[in-house]
Amino acid sequence: MRKSNEFKGKKVLVLGLAKSGHAAADLLHSLGAFVVVNDSSPEKGSEEAKLLRSKGIVVICGGHPEDILDHDFDIIVKNPGIPYHNPVLQKAEQKGIPIWTEIELSYLVSEAPIIAITGSNGKTTTTTLLYHILNIGGKKPLIAGNIGTVACTVAQNATSDEVIVMEVSSFQLAGTENFRPKIALWTNLYDAHLDYHGTSEEYALAKAKVTANQTEEDFFIYNADQPEMRAYVERSAARKIPFSLQGKQAEGISADDEMIYWQGEPFVKRSIIKLLGQHNLENILAATASAILMDCDKETIENVLSSFTGVRHRMQFVKELMGRTFYNDSKATNTLATKSALSSFQSPVVLIAGGLDRGHSFEELRPYMSRVKAVLALGETADRLIDFASSCGVQHALKADSMEQAVQEAFAISLEGDQILLSPACASWDQYPSFEERGDAFIEAVMKL
Ligand code: ADP
Repeated sequence: MRKSNEFKGKKVLVLGLAKSGHAAADLLHSLGAFVVVNDSSPEKGSEEAKLLRSKGIVVICGGHPEDILDHDFDIIVKNPGIPYHNPVLQKAEQKGIPIWTEIELSYLVSEAPIIAITGSNGKTTTTTLLYHILNIGGKKPLIAGNIGTVACTVAQNATSDEVIVMEVSSFQLAGTENFRPKIALWTNLYDAHLDYHGTSEEYALAKAKVTANQTEEDFFIYNADQPEMRAYVERSAARKIPFSLQGKQAEGISADDEMIYWQGEPFVKRSIIKLLGQHNLENILAATASAILMDCDKETIENVLSSFTGVRHRMQFVKELMGRTFYNDSKATNTLATKSALSSFQSPVVLIAGGLDRGHSFEELRPYMSRVKAVLALGETADRLIDFASSCGVQHALKADSMEQAVQEAFAISLEGDQILLSPACASWDQYPSFEERGDAFIEAVMKL
């Protein structure tokens, strides 16, 4: 752990007693800071609160006392989910108190270099793939952030011969000041989380913080096919590594139908790649570029690309049964993700979709519906989805009462060579506690066939 004296005697307010708040409070306390943790939810016998108190940390639950900022805090470390219009944060901003997330702390204490991966979509897939390549390549990677263990817990134990592969959201990046990864990777930029960030620009600016402190000693891997990203890319001082699906490019990493190219030279054949979908090819390019920059050899990269079949619930190959292939893309909680999934297939698709009704339109899927031969519609959006599918000329658009029924009907309708895809284009909360449980229900139903 480095810079360990920096927090000695500092007064820090940790807002939010979730996993990351607990970890941050623990770390700051061990570095000699005076720590107060404040959470708006009632304590209800929280074990975490008890544990922190037993170490001498002050814990206040059940609301934000009006005078909490009278204590002259030097720093606030907030849970990434707490919006900036929270009254305590508004007051802190007026007083000029730095407001961080634990990602900033992670950077300040880490001895290991950081590869930070952000983007509207593809973060988890890219992070996981890169982790596998670095691991097989003997680079001692540690996975952290939005995926796996809280970043500051990983960072405080990391050594200089290791490397942290960190998935970071816009919420986490918004609370950074000095954060400077050795490699920053930005997969793509689509409008998201506008309720939190306010405007598309604020959202993009938060994402762009991934490269804000980088210098020419660092690398910035970005999506060259997205003009929306260009203005933010130009402001980066890092060495820029573009990725592109628009055929062979002289710089960075690129792909045509046959080949992946590195700096304009053929690198690996696309035919070895197992992971489906154009969108995943972007993730592959980005992860491969990072692996090359980390000195992984080509053979290692090829080995992983020829075996990696995806992350659970993201275009995850489930099973082949009587010539039908089943894919679980339960993480597709919006139409953009389902569009990516549908565009991965040339052969006929039986689509299982539907879920929480946010009043969103399915129109974005229309250009891809010609390859959908049947839709099994679930959840609150079932009727709207059936109307939409029928308007696209889909022959069979049927409502299913459960995942099991949907899978059975899908199998009955399908023929040899068809793909059966769960890609709901909706959140799961009308039927399941999480998209993971929805995906598990799909897998279970497939295994029962
Ligand atoms: P994140 O961690 O950013 O949410 P994931 O890797 O978990 O991203 O993928 C979430 C969903 O987004 C997947 O189901 C997939 O359909 C879609 N997706 C993944 N990568 C991309 C990409 N590069 N571009 C567009 N959509 C993508």
